[in-house]
Amino acid sequence: MNGTGGDAGGAVETADVIVVGAGPGGSATAAYLAMAGLDVLLLEKTAFPREKVCGDGLTPRAVRELITLGVPTPEEDGWIKNHGLRIIGGGMRLSLPWPDLASFPPYGLVRTRQDFDDILARHAVKHGARLRERTNVTGPVLDDRTGAIVGVKAKLVDDDGRATGAEVTFRAPLVVAADGNSSRLSLSMDRPKRDDRPMGVAVRTYYTSPRHDDDYLESWLELWSTNDAGEKILLPGYGWIFGVGDGTSNVGLGILNTSKAFGKVDYKDVLQRWVQSMPEEWTYNESTMTGPVRGAALPMGFNRQPHYDRGLLLVGDAGGMVNPFNGEGIAYAMESGRLAADVIAQAFARQGDAGRERVLQSYPRVMKDALGGYYTLGRGFARMIGNPEVMRLAVKYGLPRTTMMRFLLKVMANLAEPHGGDASDRLINALSKMAPAA
Ligand SMILES: Cc1cc2nc3c(=O)[nH]c(=O)nc-3n(C[C@H](O)[C@H](O)[C@H](O)COP(=O)(O)OP(=O)(O)OC[C@H]3O[C@@H](n4cnc5c(N)ncnc54)[C@H](O)[C@@H]3O)c2cc1C
Repeated sequence: MNGTGGDAGGAVETADVIVVGAGPGGSATAAYLAMAGLDVLLLEKTAFPREKVCGDGLTPRAVRELITLGVPTPEEDGWIKNHGLRIIGGGMRLSLPWPDLASFPPYGLVRTRQDFDDILARHAVKHGARLRERTNVTGPVLDDRTGAIVGVKAKLVDDDGRATGAEVTFRAPLVVAADGNSSRLSLSMDRPKRDDRPMGVAVRTYYTSPRHDDDYLESWLELWSTNDAGEKILLPGYGWIFGVGDGTSNVGLGILNTSKAFGKVDYKDVLQRWVQSMPEEWTYNESTMTGPVRGAALPMGFNRQPHYDRGLLLVGDAGGMVNPFNGEGIAYAMESGRLAADVIAQAFARQGDAGRERVLQSYPRVMKDALGGYYTLGRGFARMIGNPEVMRLAVKYGLPRTTMMRFLLKVMANLAEPHGGDASDRLINALSKMAPAA
């Protein structure tokens, strides 16, 4: 079905599926679709390799997705392994190894997005996806009769995002929005964000540091700010230090919008004051910063829905799929890409439009079954820690209890064994199943 043909308005390229955005969600979707024998166009407005604001941390859940997708991660190619999470707070340091489970590898990784997104996009191309970089999608092409999306319009741009040529049109009976948090494509199809879902803000930078090869991810639970009355308040979120292995550490913080302080806090200032409190020999200071502090939003708990309607299917940040417990988004972008590709492949095997549409309509339910109950729990958690007193008590009384922290690590990183497992796995699964799917 692929090909380039003439259209009244200029060149038109066609495919079975168009995927807009080649972040981890889009590239995973495109790779799986190509593996299933579909003709896929993967449209990306930037050109790889390129920077992407991120903590660069991959938990075992994300590593599992890389393994399933078939992306090799050998240490000699710069994939830095970590063996657990070190939690710092309430005057304590607690090192918790990743749980040893049948369903997840016992290690995480760190890889900058500069490389990571490039590797995933190339992986999709290797499997047959047609990647078009410097292709900025500007809007949908709609079917006059049904109002469904049947393609997209795009501008070819240079590395600074400036248009370099005429508008191009791409056509396909199905379009996947994998264009990240702002998802302009979803907006243009009347799918705005839901305000009743938690949202995070995160900022990060890199410093050269002797701690660059730390083999634990590190998270600091006490981030302080001052309220209008000048009192110190504990913010709902955490700071991270992730060793990148190339001489630098990725240091940043993420904060939830569930506290009164949200929107009034200068996050860069909180970051600066936090790193100033660290030992000098770690060399996290202005003279070792290798780039500016950059930030972006974390769309959580399915904050954009429905995940499929009128020919447009959402994966990753476009569908608000960041985990409200820990701010992790890469694993979920890749997981939703995998689940979406499975539904799409089944849909394209059906005869006729009605049969195909019925299968595509099942995708929102598939996502709810996979993550809906867990994200409902996450929303409750986000609301709870928005109260500085709850956050303070959690740090004070939770951290000294190692067994409880081990359990919380499983909850917050979503690392429960889905079948069997120990009592903690069964409890997490039961709670996720009991909670209404968000
Ligand atoms: C500071 C910070 C730290 C974070 N740390 C972590 C972490 O350590 N671990 C983790 O798992 N998650 C982390 N996250 C979350 C993670 O970055 C996202 O959840 C993840 O990138 C989502 O992947 P995605 O593919 O859905 O979207 P994105 O990665 O945002 O990719 C979207 C792609 O679409 C492209 N695009 C956008 N608009 C268009 C258009 N109009 N036309 C064509 N292309 C377009 C973009 O250029 C981009 O390549 C962090 C986020 C922030 C802000």
